This record gives sequence, structure tokens and C-alpha cells, in this order.
Amino acid sequence: MKTKSPLLLLIEDDPQFQLLLTTALENQDYSVAATSTGREGLAAARNRKPSLLILDLGLPDIDGQEVIRRLRSWSGLPIIVLSARNQESDITQALDNGADDYLTKPFSTAELLSRIKALLRRVAQLPGGTLEHFQVGELKIELTKRRVFVGGQEIHLTPIEFRLLCVLVNHAGFVVTHRKLLEQVWGAAYIEHSHYLRIYMGQLRHKIESDPTRPRYLLTEAGVGYRLSEEGAE
Ligand code: CA
Repeated sequence: MKTKSPLLLLIEDDPQFQLLLTTALENQDYSVAATSTGREGLAAARNRKPSLLILDLGLPDIDGQEVIRRLRSWSGLPIIVLSARNQESDITQALDNGADDYLTKPFSTAELLSRIKALLRRVAQLPGGTLEHFQVGELKIELTKRRVFVGGQEIHLTPIEFRLLCVLVNHAGFVVTHRKLLEQVWGAAYIEHSHYLRIYMGQLRHKIESDPTRPRYLLTEAGVGYRLSEEGAE
């Protein structure tokens, strides 16, 4: 018997774009529930129980940010936001409100499909999000033993550096905002202290990257946060 294809919920008010995305997703064997307003979308999230939400931030009735906030009050549904505005503040706000990933218009459907796949895979790998090992390229992290290796050589990290790396590992492949990193590594009182993050990220890159000015693993998402590459992760 064929396994049931995941249902994706799409909230997008541009009819042409909605049709384009729906067709592309259905061609990849996803089922799609498409709505044009935030209210319909929230109702569909409750009634249809989708596996993932693709959400346009600019909607005619309620703002996409408000959709995320309302949804997060009762649901852990994975969310990819689509931003037309390419405004870092919108993206950062959406991620802080609880979105999991974002794409800036225009983007290719191939890019969207790869983000959907990655996010569904990550959700399937939970619960708790606790991994024992993580490996990408030369970088290997043994989370439970708190050991880090680069090219087989053990690297010594301070407790803060290790914590910072762990937060990124638990979201590997996805951007984590400055605010979230500060909150999870240093605590809620530190969310404005972004210089801590810059200093520690610099140290971490110095220890892990062969060329800290052109990082392979600890990638900068300008104005938004950092992303640990999972390209070639095992
Ligand atoms: Ca729109």
C-alpha cells in the first residue's frame, strides 16, 4: 500500500502564486490545502491537521506574524514563511514568533521543496531534538560526551562555546536568530547583548573553521542569525 503523502497547508493570497506553488507541490506527491486568508488558514490548521505550513507574511486580513503567534499558542506545526519584502526585521520577527525557516521571494520551487523536505525530516527526527552525534564534513560533535573533533583531532571548547554549538546542532540546517541564541545560551536577560554572540561566534569559528573568515560550518545569515551547515551531514 502506498504511504499517505503529507498534507501541506499553504496560506498565500496571490492567486497566481498560490496556483503555481500548489501545482509544484502536488507534482511532488504532496497533498495541498490552499487558503488565501489568515483566518481560513488558521481554521484549516485546526481542521485538516497538516504536516507543515507554508505561510506568506503579507495577508489581506490578519498579518502573517499574528498567524504564527496564534498558531504557536496551541500548535507545534512546522512553519516556513515566505517574505516578499526581504526585510530582515520581518524575517527575524517571524522566526522569533516561532516560524522554523524562511524564504525570500523570488525563490525557486526547487529551493522550497528542499526546505520542506529538510523540515519534515527534522521534525520526524525529534522528539526532544536531542542527538547523540552530529557530523558534517570534518566536524564531529559527540553531544552526550561533550566532545568536539575537527579532522579527528579533539578541540577544547569552553562551556559557553559548547552550549552555543549545541543550540546550532539541534537546529542544524536552519537559521537560529540572534535573540534565540542569546536566550538559550546566556538567558532571557541577555537578549539585547548581541556583542556576546559576536565574540563567542568568532572564538568558535577560530577553533573549528580552517578559514574563520570564510566559514564552512558556522554560517552567517546577515541581520538574522546563524545557521550550522548540514551539507553532507551524516
Ligand atoms: Ca501576500
